This record gives sequence, structure tokens and C-alpha cells, in this order.
Amino acid sequence: MNNIIIENGTKGEEKLGRISTVGKNSYGILFMGEEIPARLKGRFYEEDSEAFPVVGDYVKFMYNSRGDSLILSVCERKSFLQRPDQAKTGVMQYMAANVDYLFIVTSLNEDYNYNRIARYASIAIQGGAAPVVILTKSDLCTNVGRYLREVGQISDKVRVHAISARYGIGLDELKEYMTPGTTICLMGSSGVGKSTLINSLTGEDIMKTSAVREDDDKGRHTTTYRKLIELSNGITVIDTPGMREVGMANVQDGIDETFSDIVELESRCRFSNCRHDTEPGCAVKAALESGELSAKRYELYKSLGRENTNNHAMKKEISRWAKAYKKRWQYADPKTKRV
Ligand code: GDP
Ligand code: ZN
Repeated sequence: MNNIIIENGTKGEEKLGRISTVGKNSYGILFMGEEIPARLKGRFYEEDSEAFPVVGDYVKFMYNSRGDSLILSVCERKSFLQRPDQAKTGVMQYMAANVDYLFIVTSLNEDYNYNRIARYASIAIQGGAAPVVILTKSDLCTNVGRYLREVGQISDKVRVHAISARYGIGLDELKEYMTPGTTICLMGSSGVGKSTLINSLTGEDIMKTSAVREDDDKGRHTTTYRKLIELSNGITVIDTPGMREVGMANVQDGIDETFSDIVELESRCRFSNCRHDTEPGCAVKAALESGELSAKRYELYKSLGRENTNNHAMKKEISRWAKAYKKRWQYADPKTKRV
């Protein structure tokens, strides 16, 4: 009976699916191996942007076989990756949900950037996903060990592997992450070998068809990215194209966890407001002098923390303005806009 109603297109049936693409006002839901177009139920637009679906979200929706299905609600997130937007306005960009492993992919030639890796790792830890750094193109590098050691020192929560997809080196190490039901999010600049890696891990030539076209509401063609792909081996891959720089607002918790040993040291200073400068009884300075804490790592911790503080302050400022603005128009006369 229900089926007949669906075929008529008059009434849908509530289903559970997973968000695979996010366009401007349109979504794609992966449902029973197919991507179906969808849009949001109106009440979403009264909520904070955090409540909007992101790639990887499980959603309840009203299935419509003849047009857009209607997204009713977002299921509770197991993990949630977010970062400040590129313009550094302090506004957060929500990237992906329900990610088990964040594969931080960087190639062992000109792309390698220690600070960027640490930032991605902080985002993963903060968001509840496990950071796995994958150093690609090891065949082009003569001192792989040095990079492995350096990344390994970021935090004991960060796993690191060096691979060469071209020569099949190191791929076995990644098998442990490839269990059915796992969601892997890939991050890294274009050209570092993400597609090659996924293709060689899965034996499928899956990553080439990552761009799909869809109609936007004005009938023009726009390109959105098929960001979530379910592989036949039960792994789900989320690709985040073109992400180069990652800012740090609101990820102090992630930083503190990544650098938990330094936070621990700071708590051992004699004075609770120690600036680790000239104060007596400073545990941080002692550790730096004894070599227990590397100066480079401490510098990184400080610089990431500083950047974060700035963005956080800016974010507060923006939200204050936004609130004041909203309040003002709330009481305003709709015609004259006068309070
Ligand atoms: P993506 O943009 O991150 O998906 O990168 P691709 O997977 O498309 O790879 C970019 C280029 O790097 C291609 O020309 C690949 O053949 C090359 N490449 C990928 N993996 C390796 C590797 O392990 N060694 C070498 N030497 N080249 C690689
Ligand atoms: Zn101190």
C-alpha cells in the first residue's frame, strides 16, 4: 500500500541515509547504493549552521521517487570535523561527520609541511577522529626515516606511515584501517596521491569519477563534488578536495590534547600564571634545558596556540555583533526598520 503512495509521489516514506554531497541549497543522500537528490525541511533554516547536514551525516528523510526527497533530521554525530573558514573571519566551516580516521595525506617532496600536519591532527583529535598521517611518494625521498620520526613526535595520538603507491611499498600497514563499516576522510593538497592511494588500497578505479553534475534551482548546471563514496569492501571514503590551509579557531582542546605532555609540564610550574620566561621553578624551561622537550615542538605549540587565541577572540567579537544586530531588527518595525 505504502509503495503505491510513493509511486504516486503524493506521500513519501521515512528512511535513513547518509549525506554524500552538499551543494548550495541541495543535498545528495546515499541510500541503498544510490545517490538521491534532497533538500532540507524548512525548520532547519531557523537553526544554527552547525545543525545543517554535512557530508557523512546520517539523516532521516522522506523519500520521494519523483523529485527531491526531504531531509527531516540529522542523527547524532559520532565525530565532527570543523575548521575556521579560509578568510579567517572566525566563522567555522563544517567539513565532515562520523569519520573514524582522518588520513592526512602529504607527499614526501615539496608538499611536506610539519605545521600543517600538526593542524590537521589537532582538527581530527578535536573532532573525535583518529589522525593517521600518510607520507606518500616515499620512492622520491632518500631520508624517509627523518620525516617518520618528526611526524611521530607531534603526539602519541598521531599514527604515521610512509608509502609508495607506485611501488606498492607500505600499503600493508594501512590494511588495519580498512575494516568494513569504517569511514575514512582524506585530507591533503591535490597531487599528493590521494586518488592513487585509494585506488591501490581498494583495487578499484573509483576516485577518478569524483565530480558529478547536478541542476541547481535556477536550472543551470553546477558542479558539486561527490564527496562520499561507499566502496564495495564496506569502507566509506570522504574526499575533501582542494584544502590547503587550515586555520585554528576553537581547536584549543585539540591542541592541548596533541600536546598533552606540554600542558602537563605547564601545570607543574611553580606559579600557575607562569609565562615560562624568567619565572623561578618553571617546569617548561627545565624540560627545554634538559632536552626532555624539543624547542621546535614547543615553538609549534606556542605558535598554534597564539593563532587560535586570536581567532577565538575574533569569533567572539563577530558573534557579539551578530547578536546585537539580530536583537535590533527583532524589535524593528518591518516597514521602516526602525526600533
Ligand atoms: P591526488 O590529487 O591527491 O588525488 O593525487 P593523484 O593520486 O592524482 O596523484 C598525483 C600524481 O602523483 C600522479 O601523477 C601519480 O601518478 C603520482 N603518484 C601517486 N602516488 C605516487 C607514488 O607513490 N610515487 C610517485 N613517484 N608518484 C606517485
Ligand atoms: Zn613555566
